[in-house]
Amino acid sequence: MGIIAQTILETSPDLVAPIPVSVSSLVGNGAFPCLILNADYQPLNYFPLSLWSWQDAIKAVFLQRVNVVDLYDQTVRSAQVEMPLPSVVALKDFVAQNRAPAFTRFNLFLRDGFACTYCDSTQDLTFDHVIPRRLGGKTSWENIVAACSRCNFKKGGRTPKEAGLVLQRKPFRPSIYQLQAQGRRFPPGHLHESWLDYLYWDVELEA
Ligand SMILES: [Zn+2]
Repeated sequence: MGIIAQTILETSPDLVAPIPVSVSSLVGNGAFPCLILNADYQPLNYFPLSLWSWQDAIKAVFLQRVNVVDLYDQTVRSAQVEMPLPSVVALKDFVAQNRAPAFTRFNLFLRDGFACTYCDSTQDLTFDHVIPRRLGGKTSWENIVAACSRCNFKKGGRTPKEAGLVLQRKPFRPSIYQLQAQGRRFPPGHLHESWLDYLYWDVELEA
């Protein structure tokens, strides 16, 4: 992380650190995570991906809150029953997704496609105040962009025009749907094969 980004984080408490989620850590060691779909069979969340532990998934099945969509080969056994572990479940009750996305480092990078807004580099990303703080620039969706450390250093405390940099995309406050659409472009690794239809079907329909 660049020094400038570090400074922003230290001085801007509203730029919340994302909750780290590691799909691979859930998938390994016989963890058998279950992908949770909304009642419309779309994932509840892409980032972090909506997953339950197999224990929570089994509980939801017994409480009849979900429909089982797909299964692992692995089974669990109690004294009375043996049942396969669900790999994908869909909620029976639709959960409205009208909340505003959190202003997090991860969501900001996601909005900007994990690329520098000035030069499209994907290396060593930091944050940049488009209108510098000394000129009253706010720490907000509309004034923070992803920038590589080279562009950030070159820009210093100046406006893009003063620094001879071109802002390729105007920063904006994204909706949850815009972030989810971005999320489909950046699929997390190590997915169970039965999840793929539900994570990528929009992409396949468009292709
Ligand atoms: Zn750059």
